[in-house]
Amino acid sequence: MSYRITVIGTGYLGATHAACMAELGFDVLGVDFDPAKVASLNDGRVPFFEPELEPLLRKHVESGRLRFTTSYQEAAEFGDVHFLCVGTPQRDGEYAADMSYVDAAIEDLVPLLTRPALIVGKSTVPVGTAGRLADRIAELAPPVPVELAWSPEFTREGLAVEDTLRPNRLVFGVRSEHAEKLLREVFAPVIDGGSPVVVCDYATAELAKVGANSFLATKISYINALAELCDTTGADVTLLADALGHDERIGRQFLNAGLGYGGGCLPKDLRAFMARAGELGAEEALTFLREVDAINMRRRQKVVDVTADVLGNQWIGKRVAVLGAAFKPNTDDIRDSPALNVAGRIHLHGAAVSVYDPKAMDNARRSFPTLRYAESVMDACQGAHVVLHLTAWQEFRELDPAVLAKTVATPNVIDGQNCLDRPTWRRAGWSYRGLGRS
Ligand code: NAD
Repeated sequence: MSYRITVIGTGYLGATHAACMAELGFDVLGVDFDPAKVASLNDGRVPFFEPELEPLLRKHVESGRLRFTTSYQEAAEFGDVHFLCVGTPQRDGEYAADMSYVDAAIEDLVPLLTRPALIVGKSTVPVGTAGRLADRIAELAPPVPVELAWSPEFTREGLAVEDTLRPNRLVFGVRSEHAEKLLREVFAPVIDGGSPVVVCDYATAELAKVGANSFLATKISYINALAELCDTTGADVTLLADALGHDERIGRQFLNAGLGYGGGCLPKDLRAFMARAGELGAEEALTFLREVDAINMRRRQKVVDVTADVLGNQWIGKRVAVLGAAFKPNTDDIRDSPALNVAGRIHLHGAAVSVYDPKAMDNARRSFPTLRYAESVMDACQGAHVVLHLTAWQEFRELDPAVLAKTVATPNVIDGQNCLDRPTWRRAGWSYRGLGRS
């Protein structure tokens, strides 16, 4: 049977999920309460940057298989399977996740349902949320059978299309064989493509997502903690990471020391996980995550400190070029961006900061309007006393340091991502500083 699918919340996750569901052959209706986003998506334009997404979106909007709406009424009448992809940001001034968007989606959708439905949560939520929502759905007493499943999403921004069509695993948190069967049917092409499935209860599914993100964050902070030791001992953290990473039990991925993690997921998921553990009386289990977070936040100050050192502790009258604004390459997402955080701190010290990013300029301008934004790398580096490499875009890695040296006032580079080719830069006359690579 071919199910009709809705995707509620069409941001980075939902827009990608909607286009990929259409690619799998389903008729899909995306729902978002932001009319500008809906209009853009209906025109086949992705309102953010995600490689490979726009052609896929356009293909399926043009074929008529994919549409977007602001109407829950339309969604309720259309869908058999409703994917919940709304945001769960960190609450202002707290560690806990803001669940108001998830709750609102359930309140708005469920009373309107006129067809038997499976609601599938994909947003990252505190453990216990799915159980709570299942109770709420029962209270709302929809006139048709409605079930809830939780299938957390593991896609990476920048690789989201590939990750959605060929995920390294699917996790189905379900309460019935019927829900599992339905999910297996919806994801049949993905499962046939070789993605393994873990079927479990709600809590395990919810924990799978925050558990994975906490592990990745811990790995990053671990190597960054070692970078601090490298700075005090003269060791080189990139060689150290190679030495550790050859051990298959450890692995080399996520052992790149530098400016630390950011974005709309890892930092807030870690904090929400700690907050939830506290609510459950299990705070002690996750106290180590406080340290993971603290190590990560120290990296930003570390780059500022190295910059101060390079500038001889003189900020006034100094020009600082910042290469990168996105929280990582291949996205325009600047949520909790370490690069912009560093740019902002340096700006507050009184230096003239000029930022360039291949894709994230509009978002950066909106969120940090007081910084100067350059037209190009060359423009950002014009007359700079130090260049900070803060987002590891390929474009930055391919720069010719000999050419760039002619633009700057003094050829100082701080490689916050430890991925520029140090010998090449030094040969071109640059003073190169990495992190944990003294
Ligand atoms: P986002 O802010 O880009 O998108 C959320 C969208 O939901 C927005 O377009 C917003 O307008 C819409 N929305 C919010 N409440 C709504 C409502 N009640 N009804 C209709 N639309 C509503 O966020 P995102 O990055 O796509 O993340 C969404 C969720 O997915 C979060 O829980 C996040 O942690 C999780 N997640 C994201 C990614 C990712 O790559 N971004 C990966 C895995 C998991």
